[in-house]
Amino acid sequence: MKAEFDGRWNELGREAMKEVKQWRLAHPKASLDEIEQALDEQLGRLRARMLEDLAHASESTHLERQNAEWPRCPQCNEELISRGQQVRELETNHHQRLRLDRSYATCPRCGVGLFPPG
Ligand SMILES: [Zn+2]
Repeated sequence: MKAEFDGRWNELGREAMKEVKQWRLAHPKASLDEIEQALDEQLGRLRARMLEDLAHASESTHLERQNAEWPRCPQCNEELISRGQQVRELETNHHQRLRLDRSYATCPRCGVGLFPPG
């Protein structure tokens, strides 16, 4: 597991907390609901960045590292051909966009394309 995003997380966390604090100062009469919403928005952003980093750190996102068990087509059991990394866009909680670099592979027989799980 890579750990080089520790520093970035600290920075992102500080930033999120600063944003919430500034928002609170600018909205001294905010209700609890409004405060919670502002907090969720900031934490949601932080959460999405952390999720991205954690997903990238997962070994299963890289076919090249699974030498022992090369993935096969679920339909015809043919060995898949790696098509390299592709960016996969997902949406997570609080409508945060995730951009994940995933290994993409296709089946030489039926042509099905898939991202390995993880
Ligand atoms: Zn196939």
